[in-house]
Amino acid sequence: MKYIFVTGGVVSSLGKGLAAAALGTLLERRGLRVLMQKFDPYLNVDPGTMSPFQHGEVYVLDDGAETDLDLGHYERFTSGRLSKLNNITSGQVYETVIKNERQGLYLGATVQVIPHVTDVIKNRIYEVAEKSDVDVIITEIGGTTGDIEGLPFLEALRQFKDEVGHENVAFMHATLIPYIKAAEELKTKPTQQSVAKLREIGITPDVILCRSEYPLDNEIRRKISMFCNIRPEAVIPFLDIQGTIYRAPLNLHDHQLDSIICERLGLETPDPDLIEWRNMVDRIVNPSHSIKIGVVGKYIDHQDAYKSIYESLTHAGAANDTKVEIVRIDSSDIEEDGAEKYLGEVSGVLIPGGFGDRGIEGKISAARYARENDIPYFGICLGMQIAVIEFARNACGLEHAHSTEFAEGTPHPVICLLEDQKGINDKGGTMRLGTWETKMTAGSRSAELYGQQSVNERHRHRYELNQNYLPLFGEKGLQLVGTSPDGTLGEVIEIPGHPFFIAVQFHPEFQSKPNAPHPLFKGFIAAALENRR
Ligand code: GLN
Repeated sequence: MKYIFVTGGVVSSLGKGLAAAALGTLLERRGLRVLMQKFDPYLNVDPGTMSPFQHGEVYVLDDGAETDLDLGHYERFTSGRLSKLNNITSGQVYETVIKNERQGLYLGATVQVIPHVTDVIKNRIYEVAEKSDVDVIITEIGGTTGDIEGLPFLEALRQFKDEVGHENVAFMHATLIPYIKAAEELKTKPTQQSVAKLREIGITPDVILCRSEYPLDNEIRRKISMFCNIRPEAVIPFLDIQGTIYRAPLNLHDHQLDSIICERLGLETPDPDLIEWRNMVDRIVNPSHSIKIGVVGKYIDHQDAYKSIYESLTHAGAANDTKVEIVRIDSSDIEEDGAEKYLGEVSGVLIPGGFGDRGIEGKISAARYARENDIPYFGICLGMQIAVIEFARNACGLEHAHSTEFAEGTPHPVICLLEDQKGINDKGGTMRLGTWETKMTAGSRSAELYGQQSVNERHRHRYELNQNYLPLFGEKGLQLVGTSPDGTLGEVIEIPGHPFFIAVQFHPEFQSKPNAPHPLFKGFIAAALENRR
């Protein structure tokens, strides 16, 4: 087993997760079996309780783990399906150490960061290695070198490298090379200092990825090479990516990242087969058509809060030879100015998942606008609940219909908690999470798009469709076409006769890949294209 650890220096948001994922793509295309994972130094047990404004999207895995959004990159860039073992936080590490201590497992020792905390981290790497049948494990370390929280992780990696042998471990360090306009110069000092920080701990990078807005000339690479004690060709430019992030593996391959890593780890493989990947990138960058899709949400200002939704729209666009221009609309703005102003020019409306009542009425107006004006509508999780509330109010005349999440005393609780969910007070990890089966009605549009009646999709929600209202909904034209296998939980609704009105309780965006776009997203974009405005 070979191990690659990816660290970051100077600043955050360097694209380190993307670079790690791109390396995963390249190694897989060389025929290696790859597993990717992330260590996050923050003290939350998982990001499930963090605001998307803080942390971006919470990415949900098959087993229900609520994880960092970089795991979304890993699943989109490689073929692996990840599990809760593949995202560890300091919160989980300390939780384990404290539990061990309370159980007396440390036999009277003083419990310390070294060795007790570092042991838990190392053991996790060994456990993942033992349970997975792969050739290479790529582990990204969140945060920036020099952060206090990150130190135990780096110390654990230093020890780990000595335990499994230097020949089996490679370190890739991503840094920023800032450009100083007044001097017209790229600066290497921050990189030198962040590498010095790593070396202080006993880690020397084998590859330095230099994020930069401008190309690095040989002089700069030579300088970094000399100060950081690595070969000049292992100083790899990681420039801003044009067109699509899926170009990252191609760019890094152009700089021989994969062969340098393979050589370092003694992995003998053929050159990567990148033909299919290149074709996919071409489809994304050079489409024949273009449409606007309105995404109406609450965390619109945050680049990463709906990451997987945006990626899925791109995948579906490429599959339809179409560039999807995403119009990000804050639902509070619709409350102020009405839906027409923001949705007047879009060819499709997507309402993603969400929590909390800010902007809910704006989303309801958006759903109404799409339904009444025959604009393709795709609702996801909260987006399905919104569609149901809107339909109940405006098509069925249930004026104060609502979800009990937002109006506990509503006379028409069309979305509510089921009996056995009441009484759960803990917030972390208590929702309906992970992959569950949905059975769909034969002949429904959704079943047709999927090409099958039974599908497995990932979930993250607490509230459910109240099926007592189904007869009324059916009479007025909205149908439940997908449920849990026992029929108790509503999963998919449709309005037959509308150009495209599908809403789902699950999160299809967690399973779309650039080379395998999700069928519902693909159908949504096809319908939007057909009804282009
Ligand atoms: N807030 C809603 C619920 O808990 C929807 C959740 C979501 O959209 N992920 O059911």
